[in-house]
Amino acid sequence: MAAQVKRQLNDGPKIRKEKEIVGKMIRIYCMKKHRQKVLCEECQELNEYASTRLSLCQFGEAKTACAKCPIHCYKRDYRQKIKEVMRFSGPWMLLYHPVESIRHIPLPGKLRKK
Ligand SMILES: [Zn+2]
Repeated sequence: MAAQVKRQLNDGPKIRKEKEIVGKMIRIYCMKKHRQKVLCEECQELNEYASTRLSLCQFGEAKTACAKCPIHCYKRDYRQKIKEVMRFSGPWMLLYHPVESIRHIPLPGKLRKK
């Protein structure tokens, strides 16, 4: 490798999967809440931000669900936004992507399968 990078970006299967999931959730949110077919600018930005955070997550492949992570690496604004997205899209994820959603979404107890 020519240039010395400060830090290797995460690109393991787990990180990639998480990016995919967060992308889906943001898409659902934007589609239903902002009534957009393609991600609006705001959601696009959030998606990129979330993806960058995952690339830089210091736990890499060993990471837990972001909601359970002791390190809050999101800036405050984005944290608020992603929280809202998760809350909104969580139930939809159960419908659309049930397997993927189980681990990630902080659902109210009665909705959680196991
Ligand atoms: Zn949007």
